[in-house]
Amino acid sequence: MKVFHVCCLVCLANFSSSQTVAEELFTWPGGERMAISLSYDDALDSQLDTAIPALNSYGLSASFYLTLTSPTVRNRLTEWRAAATQGHELGNHTIYHPCSAALPDRDWVASYYNIDNYVIDEIVHEIEVASSFLHAIDGHNKRTFTPPCDDLIVSGEDYLPAVRDMFVAIKGHEPESPALAVLWAPVAVSGSDLIERVNAEAANGTKLLNILFHGIGGDYLSVTSEAHDQLLKYLADNQEIYWVDSYITIMEYASEHPATEAMRQ
Ligand SMILES: [Zn+2]
Repeated sequence: MKVFHVCCLVCLANFSSSQTVAEELFTWPGGERMAISLSYDDALDSQLDTAIPALNSYGLSASFYLTLTSPTVRNRLTEWRAAATQGHELGNHTIYHPCSAALPDRDWVASYYNIDNYVIDEIVHEIEVASSFLHAIDGHNKRTFTPPCDDLIVSGEDYLPAVRDMFVAIKGHEPESPALAVLWAPVAVSGSDLIERVNAEAANGTKLLNILFHGIGGDYLSVTSEAHDQLLKYLADNQEIYWVDSYITIMEYASEHPATEAMRQ
């Protein structure tokens, strides 16, 4: 395919020698150039209304990080359960979505969900209960985690080490494998912008691209349903280049693949 050849030429031109070695040592299951984890945070209505039907129509699996206080968890639980049955991952995004109110533009953080007021055991227990709740929805015992706002400091300490063992992987914090992972949270971009970034990451030697969405055609931090659909169609049409799957499936493969050890640098 033409796109593939163009991509290869760019890659060969841009790879450093260490990246070339990594490329030779590590391959995704179908020999794809890059894995892509499409993820959707906060359990929003537009994800159930628009994102999941679009993903299903192209046969693509993704990860949905549910904030368990979201109204959709109360009102549309059977739809989340159906999404899991359809092959999508229901990931942990805590119960209350605690973030720091001390950062700029954080007026929306309620004082009782302010992570600056938590202690380590409190966030650990909240995340444990969230996993139990998710187990009650989908029956799974293994899943991945996306830290709300990526705010990690509780009582002056990074809480991730206290919860890392609960998860197959933590989104955006992939210390073990694969190397060359990138996280991108697009907002208000076009379909061609999305596709252009995907191709640019592959050309730069990125092995795992985490694309983190919120609203799709609605809600907040949104991407239009048209742009989203354009990306999905492109990815479905280019599956020999891009492996799109749930984050847990991608990271289970990465952690089990012996060559990933050699990629640590
Ligand atoms: Zn969130």
